[in-house]
Amino acid sequence: MSDTFKALLLTESDEGVKSAVTDLTTDDLPEGNVTVAVDYSTLNYKDGMVVNGNIGRLARKFPHVPGIDFAGTVEASEDGRYKAGDKVVLTGWRVGEVHWGGYAQKARVNADWLVPLPKGLSARQAMTVGTAGLTAMLCVQALEDHGLKPGDGPVLVTGAAGGVGSVAVAILSNLGYEVAGSTGRPEQADYLKSLGASQIVPREELSEPTKKPLEGETWAGCVDTVAGTVLARAMGQMKYGASIACCGLAAGPKLDTTVVPLLLRGVNLLGIDSVMQPYDNRLRAWNRIVEVLPMEKLDAMSETCGLADLPAKAKDILAGQVRGRLVVDVNA
Ligand code: NDP
Repeated sequence: MSDTFKALLLTESDEGVKSAVTDLTTDDLPEGNVTVAVDYSTLNYKDGMVVNGNIGRLARKFPHVPGIDFAGTVEASEDGRYKAGDKVVLTGWRVGEVHWGGYAQKARVNADWLVPLPKGLSARQAMTVGTAGLTAMLCVQALEDHGLKPGDGPVLVTGAAGGVGSVAVAILSNLGYEVAGSTGRPEQADYLKSLGASQIVPREELSEPTKKPLEGETWAGCVDTVAGTVLARAMGQMKYGASIACCGLAAGPKLDTTVVPLLLRGVNLLGIDSVMQPYDNRLRAWNRIVEVLPMEKLDAMSETCGLADLPAKAKDILAGQVRGRLVVDVNA
């Protein structure tokens, strides 16, 4: 049986990569042992790159369905862990990059990549979290695993008004941390305060290079989503023994700095990857999200769009113009 559904399909020609909402059938879906009726997906920074055709090593084969996250209902399963009617979530595993993703009303994937929809979250809320929110939780867990405790001092979140940043601010503040949000958008100060930031750090204060490898000891922890000079400056401003969860590169992949903060202040630079995160730690992070992320803040940081809006929204996210999280209602 093959029924028709809608997908945002990327195709490649001599003129480059183009995207269009297209009718597909289940026969078009890639191989996999679980077929899911998708309810919601999201727009992450990486999705912005893929939809915009800034493919790099992200997506190599066309036609391609992007969307690195989705939440939906199992329609058919050849795997004992899932049955028709189960609610599931997928983030990462290079779905939406090398495997067709969630910008479609149906997806077919490997059961190993799914997690059950966490109890206490709707499909829409799970996608408001998405890869960005899961990464924020993984960052906070890594900082805590390295000793960070409420009362240690302010925790800096860079790229605070973005997706990872917004969720990190809300989680940290709800856990009782003093949160400093660094943003290049001063007009988002009230938004960040509503999520729980007690201090706003203008991006310019951190994006100007300095020759000093060490500055005043200011931050008890840091969630960094931007890298570049901002990360270099943050490294020099960490308190003795403090850690930075380094997860993003919104300012580019370069890090021009010295090892002095690591050697003289025992600063820890912790790399965070959400894509290949093993199942047990994923579940730990999802369950913790339900406990520590206030749902009213989660709902307040999201907007919804449809598949047809994605090409324009993909440009916006790469220009740093999306606030919080953008949920994609694939059935809108
Ligand atoms: P968003 O676009 O939603 O947020 C990024 C934010 O970074 C922007 O909102 C802006 O915040 C800030 N920013 C943008 N451009 C610059 C710049 N040139 N210099 C300094 N700051 C800038 O993206 P996401 O939150 O979805 O992702 C953030 C980063 O994290 C991306 O690099 C993404 O690839 C990475 N990521 C990594 C994951 C992992 O597993 N390691 C998973 C998810 C994301 P503001 O306006 O407040 O300054």
